[in-house]
Amino acid sequence: MIFNPTGSFSLRKGFRKVISCDFCGYNEFFNIAERADGMQVLECVRCGLAFLGQLPNSDLLSSYMKKTISRKKIKQK
Ligand SMILES: [Zn+2]
Repeated sequence: MIFNPTGSFSLRKGFRKVISCDFCGYNEFFNIAERADGMQVLECVRCGLAFLGQLPNSDLLSSYMKKTISRKKIKQK
């Protein structure tokens, strides 16, 4: 089944919709599975790359990075 990234589905807080393939830029995906937590697993129609239908946005990613970096600094002391 073709997944419509512009259709309505519940977006998690801090996540963004994937509207094009990160590898080839194509914008049609097969909906190949749904995880137990409801997250869609998509596959690019053109190149076959599989990925989640929503990914952390830049704010959420930078907060993860800050936490990871501060933990590493603590361990080094
Ligand atoms: Zn692709």
